[in-house]
Amino acid sequence: MKQDLFSKTQNRLTFRYSALLMIFLLLFVFIVYSLVYVVISSNQQQSLNMLLKQETKFVKSLLVEQNDQVEDEYQDIVVAREDAFFYYVVSPEGQLLMGSEASEGLRPKLLNLINGWIPIENEVRKERIETIHPNVEKFERNGHAEDEFKVSIDLLMTGQPIFYKGEFLGMLYIGKNVSFLYQLLKWLLVIMLSLTVLFVGVAIYMSRLMSKRAMIPIENAFLKQKEFVADASHELRTPLSVMLSSINALEMQDEVNEDPFSKKLVGNMKAEVKRMTKLVSDLLTLARSDASKNQQAFNKFDIKKMVEKVMQSVEPLAHSKNISLHLEAPDQIELSGDEEKLTQLMYILLDNGIKYTTPQGHVKVLIKQRPNAVEIRVADTGVGIHKDEQKRIFDRFYRADKSRSRQMGGHGLGLAIAKWIVDMHKGTIKVESEPEKGTTFRISLPQ
Ligand code: ADP
Repeated sequence: MKQDLFSKTQNRLTFRYSALLMIFLLLFVFIVYSLVYVVISSNQQQSLNMLLKQETKFVKSLLVEQNDQVEDEYQDIVVAREDAFFYYVVSPEGQLLMGSEASEGLRPKLLNLINGWIPIENEVRKERIETIHPNVEKFERNGHAEDEFKVSIDLLMTGQPIFYKGEFLGMLYIGKNVSFLYQLLKWLLVIMLSLTVLFVGVAIYMSRLMSKRAMIPIENAFLKQKEFVADASHELRTPLSVMLSSINALEMQDEVNEDPFSKKLVGNMKAEVKRMTKLVSDLLTLARSDASKNQQAFNKFDIKKMVEKVMQSVEPLAHSKNISLHLEAPDQIELSGDEEKLTQLMYILLDNGIKYTTPQGHVKVLIKQRPNAVEIRVADTGVGIHKDEQKRIFDRFYRADKSRSRQMGGHGLGLAIAKWIVDMHKGTIKVESEPEKGTTFRISLPQ
């Protein structure tokens, strides 16, 4: 239980530390990438627009000079260069007047892209075209699927109309290959995200280490407190047993027995001392359960016999409340476990069953052989437990109905001890209950 509590807190701390770090990392990646993207894109657009201006001047002078005879001979006057992937000059009628492109054979695709496009001032369009890698010769492609050699080219395109003395001479389009930059951006993103994943791994590791460190003083304080409870309960046992034997001796005195007031006082004292002895012994059991690292004393024993013995010892209590006890079990059923602790478990459950059942009720124990496990059910026809309280009844000092439980002499430690005993046997304990109808505790213990 202690381990559970600390590892839960540690996991929660680790999760929070690493989630925070992850958010910062992702934010960092997002900001850096967006900045780089915006800077590169605007830079590219600017340089394309500059190029367009220069080329426009040049093409304009050409068109003006040779207004009447722009034909094939001008096709190659402006050549697509490294920074201009293509350039085309289209007549007002939509005819290609001049043009060139970096990669032969792409002309139809490129013309298709600019067909009918009239860019507004400084408009830049981004397009992607698919083509076969220019270095792959036709014969190499024989026998291979075309897809294997496909490359995509990212283009930034712009264009501008050319006027001379108010006359529209044609449209100039220029495209720039920015594949390399987009590849660079893609890789930058991949690298940054991979680094983020790596850093998240490191962050989780570091957070775990840090949260572990943070837990050390808390764990020590918790341990000290447990030790204190264990020592205090242990020290309290001796004076309590001395008190009980003194009260027993007092009870035998004639003077006490003859005086009803003294007899009542001594009787009350005895009940309270017994209650306190039980509380101290339960506290000690739980304090030791926290400190001990499973000092198991497991041996094989007949569980039916053990349950019968417990039932015999609680029989007078049941009888005094007119409650009937039943046992249903196979003749012999063996279990490997700590007999003393399991006896205590049965005692707690039967005691509760009787305590929280009204007179004329029934408490029944059912033992069943399951595959590799023994199931024990303790069912009563008592007051029952509300659904929202069922989760909490195994907590220390939790009492569903405080006034009733106190009246019954309970202090809310019984089921916490029961749960610890079941846990140490690697079993499970579950409760099913309906208010005013009854409660069933279902325990499964591996054999
Ligand atoms: P207590 O000493 O108060 O009985 P437990 O830990 O044994 O403490 O039980 C916790 C609470 O669970 C009790 O206060 C009671 O309200 C409820 N409870 C336990 N067993 C039963 C039962 N058989 N029927 C109804 N309520 C029960």
